Amino acid sequence: MKVLIAEDDPVSRRLLEATLRRWGYEVIACADGTTAWQILQQADAPQLVILDWMMPGMDGIQVCRAVRTRAAEPYVYILLLTARSQKSDIITGLEAGADDYLTKPFDTNELRMRLRAGRRILDLQAELIFAREALREQAMRDSLTRLWNRAAILSMLRQELERARRTQAPLSVVLADLDHFKKINDTYGHLAGDMALREAARRMRAAVRPYDAIGRYGGEEFLLVLPGCDAAAALALAQRLREAIAAEPLLLTEGKLALTLSLGVASRHPQADDTALIAAADAALYRAKRHGRNRVEVATLADFATAVPDVTLSPSFS
Ligand SMILES: [Mg+2]
Repeated sequence: MKVLIAEDDPVSRRLLEATLRRWGYEVIACADGTTAWQILQQADAPQLVILDWMMPGMDGIQVCRAVRTRAAEPYVYILLLTARSQKSDIITGLEAGADDYLTKPFDTNELRMRLRAGRRILDLQAELIFAREALREQAMRDSLTRLWNRAAILSMLRQELERARRTQAPLSVVLADLDHFKKINDTYGHLAGDMALREAARRMRAAVRPYDAIGRYGGEEFLLVLPGCDAAAALALAQRLREAIAAEPLLLTEGKLALTLSLGVASRHPQADDTALIAAADAALYRAKRHGRNRVEVATLADFATAVPDVTLSPSFS
């Protein structure tokens, strides 16, 4: 583990450095608070810090305050070294944000144990962050297909729309619906239905680009967000998805089950928000269903006009 030592007295600094290296720490040392603060602002800075109180430039207390006014993660554990042992001094140090303190001259064994306590806090915090991120990820996933869930994919769509608006880049969405899904459930049962959804998800994931997002929008309906895709590119991708699903039947113990997908494509229109974009894709999807399923339809200007009835749409969009 990396430790930063800030101590202006060269003899104490070298002694500390040598001791900590012997204990297996990777040591970064400096002689004043200003340098310490600069080091702490760098990427991948040490999270365990031993700060002398009295130093030229920023003193230990000022460095403590600077660290604490910044974002809380990753946490920096601060051990303050001080020649002052008055209770009021100690309170000042802790108030400034130090986690612990040692009064000089300090006992080597005590320093070792206090550093160990600091490391324990940092390890615990790393575990908590890891668990929180895992939960966050879990909360965004659909448990059956492991695709993004409805809330997550909608939030990604809004983000990507915002980005596309800023950069004037194209953006398309695809709404895809498994054909005759109710019949699969009714004929073969819900386990077969679940298998069909999982397999469809797996094939779609394999057919898109790494930066495309796929979510389960409803029961057997999927929403894809395709950054950088204009209508032509989105149409090509939708055809690939359709072929990936229709290429092979799903193997059930009862036999082979043909899977097909109907898809509606809509590309970003300056006057259409996320809701209107999805509504236009939905209109195209319904046309694909009406025209026999296992096919792709692209949203027309008329679809957008229905989706945003209050606005007169310019016909010049791709
Ligand atoms: Mg000093």
